[in-house]
Amino acid sequence: MLKGKSALITGSTSGIGLGIARALAGQGCSIMLNGLGDPEKIESTRMGLETEFGVAVRFHGADMTRPEEIAALVESTAGAFGGVDILVNNAGVQHTAPVEEFPPERWAAIIAINLSSSFYTIHHTVPFMRRNRWGRIINVASVHGLVASANKAAYVAAKHGLVGLTKVVALETAGSGITSNAICPGWTRTELIEPQIAARAQALGVDLEAGGRSMLAEKQPSQQFVSIEQLGQLALFLCSPGADQITGTAIPVDGGWTAQ
Ligand code: NAD
Repeated sequence: MLKGKSALITGSTSGIGLGIARALAGQGCSIMLNGLGDPEKIESTRMGLETEFGVAVRFHGADMTRPEEIAALVESTAGAFGGVDILVNNAGVQHTAPVEEFPPERWAAIIAINLSSSFYTIHHTVPFMRRNRWGRIINVASVHGLVASANKAAYVAAKHGLVGLTKVVALETAGSGITSNAICPGWTRTELIEPQIAARAQALGVDLEAGGRSMLAEKQPSQQFVSIEQLGQLALFLCSPGADQITGTAIPVDGGWTAQ
């Protein structure tokens, strides 16, 4: 389905981003990985994807807090693959604290990585998409782009901002062959939420599994984690012709969290 197309996925060295990379590569898409982590582990992930799916996979280590590195990431993707057809803005970090104790440097980092980086990637990528009269922008927001939780001032503000950015870009690109949508996952078991599971387990004096169950019980009516594969499948659908008229949306994948 995606043979001849290329995807740039920020924050794809682990978790949801890597899952989306796997789903797109499985359909023949060339992939630009990005993210932080141990260089040897990243190289083995990159090579593993190439071998498993028989597609070209590159890596660029741009730091999403640095606009000039983000510009270089887009340039490098276009240089490698002749353009950028699919942009997945997925890089993200979390910090939890009450607003009056929230460290200003964590606020700045979360806004930069979870929100501003998507402005920069979109800013540099849309011209390539317009040239090809086709493009897919998929912003990995969160249920926290739609509703709030306590102790997540920066994260909730950034994700609401990302949903807003998704809509503006959808309006500006409507009818051009480009779509812009946000995916809004609920609890998904990745490294990002492990500290929250550990904190919950400690507070309750239970093990990690019971800590995870308690978090689900509080917010996610299905009582089940969203899987990385399910998010990959949704991204794939958004890249299919069936999704040509889906733009400007924020799609919850949250076991009922935001239905409450
Ligand atoms: P993760 O920690 O596995 O992935 C985060 C990715 O972002 C990693 O590849 C990391 O290297 C990268 N990253 C972090 N800082 C970066 C920086 N400065 N520059 C470049 N890359 C950077 O966690 P995840 O859960 O897979 O998170 C992916 C996205 O999904 C995030 O935007 C997160 O907010 C969102 N999300 C996660 C959940 C969940 O429950 N896990 C729920 C809703 C939304």
